[in-house]
Amino acid sequence: MLRCATSILNFNYKHMQWLGRRGSSNVEDRRGLSGGGIATGGGVIGVIIYLIYSFLGGGDVDPSKIPQVMPQTNNRSLTPEEQKADDERAQFVKVVLAETEDVWNKLFAENGKQYSEPTLVLFRGGVSSACGNASAASGPFYCPGDSKLYIDLSFYQDLQTKLNAPGDFAMAYVVAHEVGHHIQNLNGTAEKISRVRQQSGETESNRYSVMMELQADFLAGVWAHYAQKTKNILDPGDIDEALNAANAIGDDRLQKKATGEVVPDAFTHGTSAQRMYWFKKGYETGDLKQGDTFNSRQL
Ligand SMILES: [Zn+2]
Repeated sequence: MLRCATSILNFNYKHMQWLGRRGSSNVEDRRGLSGGGIATGGGVIGVIIYLIYSFLGGGDVDPSKIPQVMPQTNNRSLTPEEQKADDERAQFVKVVLAETEDVWNKLFAENGKQYSEPTLVLFRGGVSSACGNASAASGPFYCPGDSKLYIDLSFYQDLQTKLNAPGDFAMAYVVAHEVGHHIQNLNGTAEKISRVRQQSGETESNRYSVMMELQADFLAGVWAHYAQKTKNILDPGDIDEALNAANAIGDDRLQKKATGEVVPDAFTHGTSAQRMYWFKKGYETGDLKQGDTFNSRQL
């Protein structure tokens, strides 16, 4: 495994077998519409860390102590090299989206249902969605209101440089996780859980959020299972990359990085170990029936 890259220009795509594959046409490329700038600095992770830090630290937060995680938006134009790297990432996520379409179309059909494909919106800097306005700092997200996935490709830069989770399959995992939320939207889980959460206290509500997130990780694993089975898209090391990404973006890791301590009640995505467990379970079994994080005795 080549894990040397610390620059966005060195992104290593040669592991996952994606070149020459079909790219999805369900993509709205809005990268040119938001000022053409590039968001640098903290991005989503920075904001999450900053919020947790502020929340836990009350009024005592000294912003100068966390300069490296403060979101900064710098609206300079991309250099030609950065543009090239950005375009290459865009092409890569289109291929990943197409692979998720192939798998979920098939799985839905096998269950007598029709899969409605989501749209992927690529943006840079800021974007408006049916769920409100978002900036690059929001990170990748899925909006149930318009059934679209939103990704600012600079997130992948954060994955690589700030969280030390480089690799093409780590990028694929993020797309597959958001598509997992789309599945939860289609099958009614999202609505059901959001209703339950509205009637719950904060701790309980966070717990449901964790279950939703872990199930999205499980669904990403199921996708990887079938993508591998039918197309052999993965190279040795790819799953490690995904697990490494899951590990890097677990709530406990983010909190620890920000505060030095872990507060389980504030978890909304699950711990690194939980995320790895559910992704792996989906990947190893490919069995949708095993992804019931809501009734699982242990998360
Ligand atoms: Zn999620």
